[in-house]
Amino acid sequence: MLNLVVRLPRDYIIYSFSKRYVPKYRATPGEVVIFETIDAFGGQIVDESVTLESIDWSKVNPATGPLYVEGASPGDTLLVEIEEIKVSDKAVIMVAPGFGALPDKEFRPTVKVLEVAGGKVRFGKVEIEVRPMIGVIGVAPSDGEFPTGTSGYHGGNMDVALVTTGSRVYLPVFVEGALLALGDLHVVQADGELCVAAAETPGEVRVRVELIKGKRPKYPIVEFGDRFSIIAFGEDLDTAAYRASEEAVSVLMRALSLGFEEAYMLASLVVDLRINQVVDPMKGVRAEIPKKYVRLEHLLYPSI
Ligand code: CA
Repeated sequence: MLNLVVRLPRDYIIYSFSKRYVPKYRATPGEVVIFETIDAFGGQIVDESVTLESIDWSKVNPATGPLYVEGASPGDTLLVEIEEIKVSDKAVIMVAPGFGALPDKEFRPTVKVLEVAGGKVRFGKVEIEVRPMIGVIGVAPSDGEFPTGTSGYHGGNMDVALVTTGSRVYLPVFVEGALLALGDLHVVQADGELCVAAAETPGEVRVRVELIKGKRPKYPIVEFGDRFSIIAFGEDLDTAAYRASEEAVSVLMRALSLGFEEAYMLASLVVDLRINQVVDPMKGVRAEIPKKYVRLEHLLYPSI
């Protein structure tokens, strides 16, 4: 028997996370869905002759969706298991003065098209291992809307290199159906995403959605390998690092029944703070906690 998997087409895109969008499809918990995505430039960079002036910046950071998940209510957790990420054989990257980690530098705006073949991205003479990841993944906030170019409690443009095949993303649910959307695939991106773009590509993401009822994380959580990562954000790195640290200490207190002093010290020994990106409107820092010390339930809070 054919196992038909629903596809959300790549022409069904949004540029903000909001409950005002009509969902394309209603999935039941446990269902597998494929999101077809276009790249972060909306497919506008077709070759290296494209100038940045010719790009319509209102059409960047598209996310495919939203997907309604039956039974999801405010206070729940939406679990998105990333089963497979397929990327194109071509990726694009750009630099422009005023953007990235070095915005004061003077240089030529430059666009590059990168070939992807045999599990490698070719960058001039250099070959880089392909490690596909999802830059934008999030749900609708309870009120208002967040552009897909930024991040927050709802997820969004987190640019976490760990959101890859085999990872599990836990998002707090704020509205009925959660309204999941994702996009902004990268063939590869290092922590920091220094120049403001990575190897941007269209592709397909196969996910399985699940619900955890009645409790949710404070920040999006990514489970990958032997770690849980708390994905914090802030207008500057200090704020993002503070939030990631504060939540990590609080999770250790709950997990191990420790007072603040002990949990604070233990965090210094076992929690790794890492930078997700320094180039989006909200900078991103994650606190990685080995699963050896905490269980998922310690990262989730009962909804009131
Ligand atoms: Ca991004």
